[in-house]
Amino acid sequence: MTLKVCKFGGTSMADGNTMQAVKKIIDSDAKRKYVVVSAPGKRFNGDVKVTDLLYACYGELKEKGDCSQSFAKVRARFESIVKELNLSMDIKAVLDETQRRLNEEQSEDFTASRGEYLSARIMAELLGVKFIDGEDVVFFKEDGRLDGEKTYRAISQAVADGANAVFPGFYGRGADGKVKTFSRGGSDISGAVVARAVNASVYENWTDVSGFLACDPRIVDNPRRIKNLSYKELRELSYMGANVLHSESIFPVRKANIPIVIKNTFRPDDEGTSILPISQYTPDGTVVTGIAGKKNFTVILIEKNHMNNEIGFVRKVLSVLEREGVSVEHIPSGIDTMSVVVDSEEIQGYKLEQIIEGIKNEADPDVIRVMENVALIATVGHGMSSSIGTSARLFDAMARANVNAKMIDQGSSELNIIVGVKNEDCEKCISAIYHEFFG
Ligand code: ADP
Ligand code: ASP
Ligand code: MG
Repeated sequence: MTLKVCKFGGTSMADGNTMQAVKKIIDSDAKRKYVVVSAPGKRFNGDVKVTDLLYACYGELKEKGDCSQSFAKVRARFESIVKELNLSMDIKAVLDETQRRLNEEQSEDFTASRGEYLSARIMAELLGVKFIDGEDVVFFKEDGRLDGEKTYRAISQAVADGANAVFPGFYGRGADGKVKTFSRGGSDISGAVVARAVNASVYENWTDVSGFLACDPRIVDNPRRIKNLSYKELRELSYMGANVLHSESIFPVRKANIPIVIKNTFRPDDEGTSILPISQYTPDGTVVTGIAGKKNFTVILIEKNHMNNEIGFVRKVLSVLEREGVSVEHIPSGIDTMSVVVDSEEIQGYKLEQIIEGIKNEADPDVIRVMENVALIATVGHGMSSSIGTSARLFDAMARANVNAKMIDQGSSELNIIVGVKNEDCEKCISAIYHEFFG
């Protein structure tokens, strides 16, 4: 039988009502055998996600060695969900045990993971299926990366009985034997991992929007839905800030060519977005597929006459960053200039000064300048390579919106154009590009 793995995000798990909507979706299709859930998210504007409540618990734990004050809020959220759903499970006992373990483990990752643990326990109870703990089936290697082989084997064994199951997203077990989480939004990765392990025919990612939209709906009202997205376009857009799907979530499914479908829990009949390997994908026919942006980058601009004749110049510059353990996002270059773009968080404090000094000493540039508070905006689409004048339209739209491009980088695959603008121009720039290409 073809299998579907369904991941439900925080808004889908926010309260008893939304969990009933989840149950309805699962019950409506027998292929939906495996469910991966996030911790309860916001119920209304201004509400706090359970994961954020849990990070606050860890703050209290660190300070006092105990987190009963902050944990009271988490407790109240889960008790009210179980009450709303009218479940007979002894949630009080589960919460007592959780609180005891929080105090015992004193670990940030363990604390943060309990939102998914508890919501999965409740969902398993609501659906009347078994709960498979992330601790027992998702494993990380010493270097912190997923141990795919071990994980896929453990998940296949755990589902070998053919019974339906619920998995908590977001965490597994580290090489040291302790609970370890993915980065924020990581339940999307867990869903992809389960889909790969059970060889699903599709990975359904259920959220609170009717698909991947051409840009962030918090920036432009009602952006166009993308019907079909290639894995490559997804990677570019999600990496550059379209966090409807975690940017790492494509890796497990890509190897097995498993399509991802983004669906809306609250409008389940809406078509959503299909994300497919390039060989199986039909483009929407637009020049641009989508636009995404991310703030807080630092650009180091380096000028030196005859730079391109100087063998090893780029290597000298990059070796300084390598030594400081800083990863490089982009390296746009001209004849006598190159820029290095890094995430500002990676070079906080003295590190930036050390890098500048290192480049001055080792590469002897004529000029070196630093530009901080830069946002990068990616305009992405396979259609761009075959369409003449795309960049002219893009820069024209930026000029009309009075946004100055501080940096430009066109990927060699012609899949994207990335521009650097001031942080405060980020939204304005995304909106201008969107309206240029989508009317
Ligand atoms: P979940 O809790 O279901 O994982 P997220 O909050 O992580 O949901 O992701 C869904 C949200 O992503 C949407 O509500 C939307 O505000 C935001 N978002 C940002 N960019 C996009 C985009 N390009 N398309 C759709 N949603 C986007
Ligand atoms: N609950 C976690 C977070 O808020 C993971 C997730 O929702 O995907 O980041
Ligand atoms: Mg998410």
